[in-house]
Amino acid sequence: MANPAWDESYGWRVGAMTLLEALLLIGTGSLWFVALMMMDRPLLAGLNLAVAAFGASQLVLLLRGRLRLATILAVHLVPLAIAASCLFDNPPLGVPKATVLYFLPMAAGCYFAFQRDEHYLRIVLPASYLVAFVAFSLLPLAISDPALLIPPEAAPVAAWVNTLSALVALVFIFVPMHADPTDRRSLEYDLRRAIAGGEFHLYYQPQVDRGGRVLGAEALLRWRHPRRGEVPPDQFIPLAEETGQIVPIGDWVLRAACAQLAKWNTQPQTAHLTLSVNISVAQFLQPDFVRDVMNIVMWSGCDVSQLKMELTESMLTANAPDMGARMQALCDIGLAWALDDLGTGYSSLQSLSRFPFAQIKLDQSFVRGLPADESSLRIVEAMISLADTLSLMSVAEGVETEEQFRCLVEAGCQVFQGYLFGRPMDIDRFDALITSAPDAPAGSADGGDASPER
Ligand code: C2E
Ligand code: CA
Ligand code: CA
Repeated sequence: MANPAWDESYGWRVGAMTLLEALLLIGTGSLWFVALMMMDRPLLAGLNLAVAAFGASQLVLLLRGRLRLATILAVHLVPLAIAASCLFDNPPLGVPKATVLYFLPMAAGCYFAFQRDEHYLRIVLPASYLVAFVAFSLLPLAISDPALLIPPEAAPVAAWVNTLSALVALVFIFVPMHADPTDRRSLEYDLRRAIAGGEFHLYYQPQVDRGGRVLGAEALLRWRHPRRGEVPPDQFIPLAEETGQIVPIGDWVLRAACAQLAKWNTQPQTAHLTLSVNISVAQFLQPDFVRDVMNIVMWSGCDVSQLKMELTESMLTANAPDMGARMQALCDIGLAWALDDLGTGYSSLQSLSRFPFAQIKLDQSFVRGLPADESSLRIVEAMISLADTLSLMSVAEGVETEEQFRCLVEAGCQVFQGYLFGRPMDIDRFDALITSAPDAPAGSADGGDASPER
């Protein structure tokens, strides 16, 4: 599944790895240059100076944001420098060859850096470094002229330094690849603790009628992570779904939403409000889903006729033979179902009429094109007339401009949700919006969350 968070984190990791590699090249290259000049080995010293200069050029590329170019150059030129250094690594008997060890971090680094690339970069290059490692370790591929080699008395020190530097290079590769702050495993671990830690909270986005009066809200989950700050739902809900964590999280959302509805019920200004919650497929398919919902509703004391559950269109294709029966069981106690993101999945019109939906939500991708985009307009009109035919309420999502709103009103849409009427906001702001002007149209000045537009 394409996830921008992983891509961002992956780029960050490759960047950190390349930066550390550049610093290591500069450090070791310049130290060896000085040491070899003092040992009167100008050829070897020159080679190390070239390595340090290459490290510096990598740093410049990184500072200019040319990460891709820096990594491509590194995986082609550094192994050549290692191979050249191996030719000079012909230590006296009893001292191991150590320069060859640099091929190992090269292979690991190349494999990690190009995990999403073609075969050549991901497999062929790292494999060729391993072949070079074996060849230079076992075959007599070295210059034998003592005047060009490190003096025998300095060879043990060189072996130590090279072994340790190769080890440091390996650490520089594995640490960024596995200890990054947006790492999936640590996110998953944190997710498990988030409910107990009280890190979840709900935001409320107003849903308004044609006159702009607030009818209710959609509850949207937010995760306030102690270190990462606000983690948007797009980043953790797919993970929660994959790991099954969505079940306890969805349970928490439902409890919080029902508690809020019950609270609104005690105030005349908010008693009429409805609240929609999003339900994930894994949550819906839990064997005890219907019973659990009934229990939560009952214990909360809310009026279930003010609770709506949103299922996405893609769920209609989920293999759930008793899906209709489950939905109906909850309809029977007064709960209403909405079909979310209509137009983004592949459900047939027939499947729409098979399930007891009360609302359809037009996906924001169609609303975005209004009023100029002719095909969006036709699709929106068709969906609204379909909703009319099936006696369903139509809700438009992602309404951002007056023109879109007018166009949707003309097309016959009944309920509207979007930044034009209010961004998702915390409960204090939402209550203030309602109580300050209960009958006045909701304005766009709400100060809700500033999540980037999607
Ligand atoms: P969704 O159910 O389609 O929710 C609507 C999303 O559109 C929200 O994103 C909302 O902030 C955003 N939005 C609303 N109006 C506008 C607008 O005018 N313009 C634009 N560009 N965007 C608008 P959000 O809050 O980031 O939620 C993303 C998704 O995460 C939701 O999409 C829903 O699928 C999922 N999600 C959120 N809360 C829950 C939850 O409690 N349970 C489950 N299972 N999923 C949730
Ligand atoms: Ca929704
Ligand atoms: Ca939606």
